[in-house]
Amino acid sequence: MMYHRGVRCPACRTPAIENDAACRQCGFSLEVADRSFGIAPALQGPIADVAGVMGAFKQKRAAHVIAQVERQFPQLAIAAVLMDVPQQAPLVPYAFWLFNRGQLSSAVEKGGENRLVMLLIDTNTDRAIAMVGYGLEPFIQEVPLQSCLQAALQPLQRGRYAQAIESFARELGRQLFELCQLAPKQFGLAQETQWLDVNAPGDANVGLAESLY
Ligand SMILES: [Zn+2]
Repeated sequence: MMYHRGVRCPACRTPAIENDAACRQCGFSLEVADRSFGIAPALQGPIADVAGVMGAFKQKRAAHVIAQVERQFPQLAIAAVLMDVPQQAPLVPYAFWLFNRGQLSSAVEKGGENRLVMLLIDTNTDRAIAMVGYGLEPFIQEVPLQSCLQAALQPLQRGRYAQAIESFARELGRQLFELCQLAPKQFGLAQETQWLDVNAPGDANVGLAESLY
C-alpha cells in the first residue's frame, strides 16, 4: 500500500512510513484486510445503499443535495455508503479498506489524485465515519470533518439516513465555503472557485446564492 507523508495507520494510528508494505506497529495492510474482510462490494456513488434502508425518493433527495455541493466544489466527489459493517470489524480500518477497495474512485483518481469524500454509515450500529482521498488532504484536513459528522449525528440516531447524508454534505459545503473565503490561494482553490467572485461573468451569482443556507 502507498502511504503518503503524515498519514497514520488506519488500524492503530501509528504514523506510517512512506512505501511501507504494512504497518510496522500492527501489521495492517490492505492485503491483510482483504484476507479478513473478503471481497469488497462494488459500490456506486453518490449513494451506495448496500443495506437497502433508503427508499428511491429519499435517495434521490440526498443525491440532489450531494450534487449541489459537488457543483459548488467541482474538485471533490462525495459518496455515501450505507451498509451493515461486519460486527467483528473495527470501523476505521474497515472504512479505509472500503475506500480503497469499493471501486468508488475510478482508476485515474488513485493515489494523489483521489478527491473523494466518503461517508460510511454502519446501519448495524448507526455509527458514521468520514474518509477523504489523498488529493483533498492539503486543504480538507483543515476542515473539521468531525463537525460534518456531528451534523449527521441527530438524524442518524433517529434512523433518518437521507437526512443524515444531507446534513453531512451541507456542513461539508459550509466548511469548504468558509475555507475558500479565508484562504483561497493558500489551498489552491482560487482557480476553481471563481464563482465566489460576485463580479465574475456568467452565472456566478447563482452559485453564490445557492451556498447561503
Ligand atoms: Zn498499525
